[in-house]
Amino acid sequence: MSRQLVFATHNQYKTEEVRQLLGDQYEVLNLNDIGCDTDIPETADTFAGNAELKSSFVVDNYQIDCFADDSGLEVESLNNEPGIYSARYAGERGDAANMAFLLEKLQGVVNRKAQFRTVISLIRNKEKFLFEGIIQGTIREMPTGTNGFGYDPVFQPDGYKQTFAEMDMEQKNQISHRALAMRKLIAFLKEQAV
Ligand code: IMP
Repeated sequence: MSRQLVFATHNQYKTEEVRQLLGDQYEVLNLNDIGCDTDIPETADTFAGNAELKSSFVVDNYQIDCFADDSGLEVESLNNEPGIYSARYAGERGDAANMAFLLEKLQGVVNRKAQFRTVISLIRNKEKFLFEGIIQGTIREMPTGTNGFGYDPVFQPDGYKQTFAEMDMEQKNQISHRALAMRKLIAFLKEQAV
């Protein structure tokens, strides 16, 4: 019998992706599937803390094993800003405003090193595990490309000439922070299932 596992997201696309990767050893449910429409508070000051808040919320309220992710951009010369505030760096004004705000802060700054980080918290049989994925790169002077979301048009991963927004989804998914963390989680879950 396959084992139930909640992915604490409303995103159907992310859910399908994990279902495909995990195969039939697990029945992956998302927040819509379990009828959870609570806006789970993300009040911690680290990615791991926020991911843990989300996975704990589901385990405490629904009694099903769960994993949750939290991601963001860290820019070296800005003391790792925007970090956990990535989604609302320029207030609640969206991706374009966040990017413009970031580029403004980096005007004239020579060190443009940055990284995307994802942390996944898994709670399985009441035990907590963390998985991390990081991709390093630089922040361009100008946004380029139209694919993806968030800071993709200004982030150029090391070893590539394109920004994330100039890559197709398949290419980005081979190297992204989220994919790296997700692969670690999947490997762990598959190992546990045998
Ligand atoms: P989330 O935790 O995956 O929802 O990410 C929080 C925020 O970090 C997003 O709203 C984006 O601003 C930024 N972010 C995370 N992952 C990416 C990415 O792959 N590309 C661009 N921006 C990202």
